[in-house]
Parts: sequence; C-alpha cells; structure tokens
Amino acid sequence: MTTPSERIVVAQLASGILDYAEAATNGTVARLPYPGNLQLALDRLTMLAWRQEVDPPSGVVGLLQLASTPFGDWDIQLPEADVDPDESLLAHGRPTATCEEFGTLRGDVEGEMRENALLRSVMDKTRAAGAPDSYVAFRRLLIERPAITALELDMKLADPALAIVADELRQAYPEVPPEAKADGIVRTCAGCHGVRLPLDDDRTWTCQDESCPAPGTSGPDHPAAEGVHWLRRELRTFITGPGRAELRIAEAVASMGVPALLWPDFDSCDVSVFADRPWAADVKAWRNPVRLGRSLRKKLFTVPPGTDRAFIVIAREQVRAHPRYIALLRRACPDLKPGNRVVAISEKQFLDYVRKRAEEQS
Ligand SMILES: [Zn+2]
Repeated sequence: MTTPSERIVVAQLASGILDYAEAATNGTVARLPYPGNLQLALDRLTMLAWRQEVDPPSGVVGLLQLASTPFGDWDIQLPEADVDPDESLLAHGRPTATCEEFGTLRGDVEGEMRENALLRSVMDKTRAAGAPDSYVAFRRLLIERPAITALELDMKLADPALAIVADELRQAYPEVPPEAKADGIVRTCAGCHGVRLPLDDDRTWTCQDESCPAPGTSGPDHPAAEGVHWLRRELRTFITGPGRAELRIAEAVASMGVPALLWPDFDSCDVSVFADRPWAADVKAWRNPVRLGRSLRKKLFTVPPGTDRAFIVIAREQVRAHPRYIALLRRACPDLKPGNRVVAISEKQFLDYVRKRAEEQS
C-alpha cells in the first residue's frame, strides 16, 4: 500500500472538521455518525503514525484533540503538507482559517459549493435585473457588517438595492450560535464588526476573525432577545477577510485621484483601477502562501478583456505575518512571476505602481 499524500490527509481532516462543525451548528450531531472524512483521516493518519513508529490518535476524540494542537507539536511528521508549525485546524473548539483553506483544497467541497451557489444566485439575480449596484451593495454589506441585529437586517432587506437578493441575504446571515448568547448578551468586535465568542473559561470573549484589524476591542453589546445574525463562517473567511483589503485598496487608489471600481461587471475582478487601459487586481488574504499557490495553479483568475495589466494582490496583513510570502507564492505558482500575464505582488507594491503610473500620466 502506498503512503497517502500528507496534504490529502490534512485536507480530509479539515473537511471532516468543517462538516462536523456544520452539523453541530444545525444541532444534528447526535443523530449522525461522524462525518466520513473524519473517519478516513483517522485511518490514514493511523497508517502514517505506524510507518513513523509513533502513537496514532486514539479514535475520533483523539483526532479532534490533535486538530487543536499546532502542527509543530504533532508526533506524526507532515513535511509535505504545506503547513506552518504554529497553525492548527481547531482553536477553542472551532475551525480556524487554516481549516477553511484546507477545506477548499478537497475535490468535492461542500462548503465551497454552498458558498458558490449562494454567490452565484446573487450574481444571476442582480445580472438579470441589470443591477450591478445591487451586487456591489451585497458584497459591501458582507464585508462591513459580518454581525447585524435582526432589526438592522430587516432594514437592509427593505433597501431597494438589496431587496432583490433578500433570500440570499437571509441564507447568508443565520442567527448567532447558542454559545454567543449564553448570558443573554451578544458581544461584538469593534475591529471587524463580527461576533465575539467565549473561550473555554466562559469569561474571556474573543474575536473569531484571524485577520481582524483590532481583535481586542469590544464593540456594542446587543440583547440576545432582540435577535442577532452572523455571517456564515465560509463567507467570513473568503468574502469579509479579503474584502476589508479590497475596500482599503479602492479607497487608497481613489485618494490618489485615480478611479477605482469594486467588483466591476459583476465581479470580473476585485478592484479595477484607471478608466483607460485599466489594471485588474484580484485580492487574496490566504494565510499560507504555498496553499494559495496550489489553489491558484488549479484555477488562476480570468483576466477581464481590455485589461492592461493584471495582478494577484496579497493583503497587508498576510505579508506582515509571513515576510517571504510573495517569494513562496511565486515559487508554488511560477505563473505568477514577473513577466507573466498575471503577477503576484503585495498591497504596498501595487499601490506604489498605481501612484507611479498616476504621476507619469499627470
Ligand atoms: Zn474582530
């Protein structure tokens, strides 16, 4: 028997955890056996452990404990898995951004399908209505308001720009989970405007967003009885996280007096800069450059017709956390090196390029 790819094992474990978390949210855990991916990951990790002559995880419970442990502390070695030693798949019993990134690497991604189905439905409806402003309003709401009170959500649903995607908005914003309102109060984060959840001690409340610009700051508290909704986790990871950088970049470009469009033509790219011979930017906020590179190798973004230059732009937070991010990304996906149709650069470098071209033109 051949040794299973370490990357596939970790992706399977991540998928199993996401399925498990999804079932737990829906309250269906007690009626279901463990997700198939968890069992498969357990079998395969057990095989790896035997080969490396270390102890395998003791059942699914041991597997979940292992998932909460940083990879650097595992007895089982995973040099081929594209993980950083300080990363884990679970933190305080909840899936991490690392877990979400691995989840998207599996072949048949339920979470990704769901996300795509929802976003595709928004795109189809706004396109059919000839309402690009509605599409932009939807994206902007998800970024600016990951948590929203029932009253505010009702007001948004009544907003003419958002009314045509009311069904999708309701799907995107389920009620906060029970642990968020244990003592009758839902706490928010001033940094990302999301929900803060209690740690195991039930006294410390933390922001769940790993790229939150100010995770320690408390935002307004809301009485749970009035109803509070929280954006689905995969939308927080893949829309809200990079979205903050998208809004920031568009604002920085506009402040140079250069026109910037967010998600033009129903998301042909994230930010389009310059009216004439435009530049297209696809903004990425993945935690790990090698995993992003692998994902881009499978599917690089389609450059909109008429584009002068196209960039994968890595958000400031990620470059700061991983100093060699761009080099590692270009190595994992050589199609992104300078000279290609699409080039990977940092947010700062992108803004420098824009400034230079704006100065040359004036
Ligand atoms: Zn936050």
